[in-house]
This record gives sequence, structure tokens and C-alpha cells, in this order.
Amino acid sequence: MENETTLKADYLVIGSGAMGMAFCDVLLSETDANILIVDKHHQPGGHWNDAYPFVRLHQPSAFYGVNSKKLGNNTVDATGWNKGLYELATNDEVCGYFDQVMCRQFLSSGRVQYFPSCEYQGNGAFTSLVSEEKYSVSFKKEVDSTYMKVAVPSKRTPPFDLDGDVHCAPPNDLPSLRQKYERFVIVGAGKTAMDAALFLLKNDVAAENIAWIMPRDSWILDRAQIQPTLESIGTALASQLVPGAESESIDDLFTNVSEAGGLLRIDDCVKPTMYRCATVTKAELQQLKRIKNIVRMGRVKAIDEQEIIMEEGSTSTSPTTLHIDCAGDGLAKRPAVPIFEDKKITLQSVRTCQQVFSAAFIGHVEASYQKDEEKNDLCKVVPHPNTDIDFLRNNLADSINRDRWAKEPKLQQWLQNCRLDFTSHVLNSNPSIKILAFLSKLPFLPIPNRLTAVQEQATQNIKRLLDDLDS
Ligand SMILES: Cc1cc2nc3c(=O)[nH]c(=O)nc-3n(C[C@H](O)[C@H](O)[C@H](O)COP(=O)(O)OP(=O)(O)OC[C@H]3O[C@@H](n4cnc5c(N)ncnc54)[C@H](O)[C@@H]3O)c2cc1C
Repeated sequence: MENETTLKADYLVIGSGAMGMAFCDVLLSETDANILIVDKHHQPGGHWNDAYPFVRLHQPSAFYGVNSKKLGNNTVDATGWNKGLYELATNDEVCGYFDQVMCRQFLSSGRVQYFPSCEYQGNGAFTSLVSEEKYSVSFKKEVDSTYMKVAVPSKRTPPFDLDGDVHCAPPNDLPSLRQKYERFVIVGAGKTAMDAALFLLKNDVAAENIAWIMPRDSWILDRAQIQPTLESIGTALASQLVPGAESESIDDLFTNVSEAGGLLRIDDCVKPTMYRCATVTKAELQQLKRIKNIVRMGRVKAIDEQEIIMEEGSTSTSPTTLHIDCAGDGLAKRPAVPIFEDKKITLQSVRTCQQVFSAAFIGHVEASYQKDEEKNDLCKVVPHPNTDIDFLRNNLADSINRDRWAKEPKLQQWLQNCRLDFTSHVLNSNPSIKILAFLSKLPFLPIPNRLTAVQEQATQNIKRLLDDLDS
């Protein structure tokens, strides 16, 4: 017999992944609203529940998670390929963290109702994935945290045909293989593929026994430049902003940024056409460069016992080879839609590849401003990048948002205290920088003025290059 339960909430939030959690956390801190959260997963954390066991955060834990609770201990790693840089949480840590946030903060507040293992159908209706229970919610606002459509290889079939006795597995299977393989073929060129390659190399698979099918080469960020430290931010500015301000053409800009260390690549002789915020350390890059058998013949269409067939050619394989499926688009570029639209909030990035920061920021804007028009003006969407040109488009979009936010003194104050904004760590641990940031608004002082001028020059130059490209 079917049951239907009727429920009520101010905010109905679909998804308890990192973005849904970061949004709800700010609403709980800054409003007295009550929230109902629905998720298909049995616990919070979203895609982290399905990720490969050896995945770690790609950015420091210091500015990941929800705003109100620290993740990790801000420890600097003393060993391994992340040595000298801030710790990166494992997926177990990320899931454990979100579980604690849900149980100890959200549910214990008495203002959150949580429905895990339930699927949302729309119009306030959702059903249990375990029982026959059906629910109907009346709400003031619906928050969609699923629009970014994060996809992990273990939750789908490979996007190519497999014929005969072919061995193919998602990276999730690598730590528990039942047999040994003579060769490994990594399919895909994104961060998941890099992680799979590093897993094999770390486990002493000879680089000669690894082939890497790379439909597109990728520009990669240097994790040393994404640290919550003054030195890191200074290096990033010098290696990205200065060349950005001075370059004559787009090709020139990528060459200059790359020579200054602002962007890395696996093969210095190949010009990458992809940019998706993949991040490595220099030590990891050195390891990845050991793989010399890189196959550039487009996407894989089919694999049989003898051959891997790609869009632009084929290469041989064998039944003693394991093909690792890291293909597909984990974080596809989605068309930007308005974040605030009447009774609906659609969570998207407002800063390049900073999803949790973005969700918390949107939560703060929702809590602090009244009109949708003003809220959308503060929250211009910065879509997830895909191509090399998106590096420039995102740079520009970030600077437009940054300039807009700079006009709101209260928002600036919020940003300076937001742990998910990596610059807040620098400001709060270096009081002199806080003073400098304040002084930069005064036109008569030369040093901060010069920094603002380079920033402005880089933005204008990138805008000019993109306008030329688009015309
Ligand atoms: C391997 C990997 C590493 C990453 N590392 C970083 C990093 O270091 N730093 C960083 O900032 N970002 C990183 N990212 C980006 C990452 O995607 C975001 O940080 C974040 O986890 C995305 O969360 P989300 O809430 O948008 O999506 P998801 O985690 O996908 O959450 C969406 C949730 O919605 C639920 N849902 C969907 N449809 C329905 C429905 N109809 N009914 C009910 N529930 C539904 C899903 O079950 C899911 O739990 C990484 C991504 C990957 C894949």
C-alpha cells in the first residue's frame, strides 16, 4: 500500500553534495529559515560517495567544505608528491566531514529535515528509493544543486564499445584488481586520468607499460599557486597577470603564461586545447612526463581484443591489457542560467572552479539582498571551463564579479571572513596585507595602485584579445 507524507519548509534543497551543503550552511548561520534536503545518496557528500578510493581533494582542504567548519588541520604535507603544500583530504575524510556537518550541525539545529535515499521528481514531490513512501513538500523556494551534473566513471557505462575478451575498468577498481596485467591503457586526458596514471606509477608500474590515450592535451594549474599563502598568490599573480597584461595575441599569452609557470602541460612540444582546472604539483607532473606512449588520435570509439579504434586511427592492444576508463566529462560545461529566478535558485559557480565557495556566496547573497535582479547582478555565472580559450573567458568573468563585489563594503567584509575564499586566509594571517588591501582603494599610494593597475591592464588586454577572437 502506498503512503504519502506532506511536509513544509522555507527552502527545499535538492542535493546534499558539496554545493548543497555549503549553501545550506550559510542559510543556517545567517537566517532563521528552515530547510528540507532531499538526496538520492544515502549520506551527504554527493559524488564523493562514488569517487575512486585513492582520490583526494585537488585543492587544499583549508578552503573546501562548508564555511562554518574547518576541514583538516591546515597541515603542510611533509612527504609524498604534495610535499611542502597544504594537506588534501581523502574522499573518506570529505564524506566523514559532510556527515558530521549534517548530523552535528544541521540536524541538531532542529531547522533541517533530511531525506537521504530519496529521488526528487519536481513540483515538491519526491519518493523513497528504499520503501514505497512518497512525499509532497510545500516550500517558499526550491534550490537546485544538481544543475552542474557531476558525473563519475563508476556510475555509468564506458562511452565506447567493448567487444570480446576486453578488460576495461573504472579507476575505482584499481586498488582491488583480481589479476595482474602486462599493460595498462588510460583512456582520457582529464584530472581523473592523471590520478589513475599517478596511482599506477606510485605502485611501481613501469612507465613503459602504460599507454595514455589523450584526445586533447590539457593546460594544468600548478597546485603550488593555489595555496592559502601570500607567496602562492604572489606567484600566481606574477605568472598569470603580468603575461596577461603584456601579451600581443592569444598564442603569445599562452606561451608567456606557460613560460612564467602560470600554466603547466604534460608535453612542452604540444599546444593544449583543453583547460578544465586540472591541478598537479611539479613532482606529480614530473612523474606524468615519464609516460612517453601518448596516443593522440581523438576519442576512443571501440576496443576489441586486438585493437583500440579511435576517431582518427587505431592502435594495438591485447587481452592482457587493462583499459582504464577515465573518459567523459565529469564536470561538463553547462549553459549558464539565472541563479535567482522567482521561487527557484539554481546553484552554479560564481568563481572559476570554486564550487563550494560559490554555493556559500550565493547563500550569503540570498540571506542579505532582497531583489532577484540585484542578486543576479552580484552572482554572474562563471561556467565550468572546457577549452584553452575558456581560461581567458573565465579570467574575465572572475574579474567582472570581483569588481562588482568590491563596490559592496559589507560583502567585502564577509569575503574577508569566509574560510572558503582562499584570499581570506592570507588576509587574516598577514595583518599588513589587510592594511595594504584597504590602502589599495586610496588613489595616492603607489604600490597597491600598481598592483590594481596591472590587474586592470590584464583584464583589459584579455577582453581585447577575446573581442578580436569573437569578431
Ligand atoms: C574527482 C574530483 C575531485 C574534485 N576535487 C575538487 C577540489 O579539490 N576542489 C573543488 O573545489 N572541487 C573539486 N571537484 C569539483 C566537485 O565537483 C565539487 O567540489 C563538488 O563536490 C560538486 O558538488 P555538487 O554538490 O555540485 O555535486 P554532487 O556532488 O554531484 O551533488 C549533487 C547531489 O544531488 C543529488 N541528486 C541529483 N539528482 C537528484 C534528484 N533528482 N533527487 C535527489 N537527489 C539528486 C545527487 O545524488 C548528489 O548527491 C572535484 C570533482 C571531482 C569529480
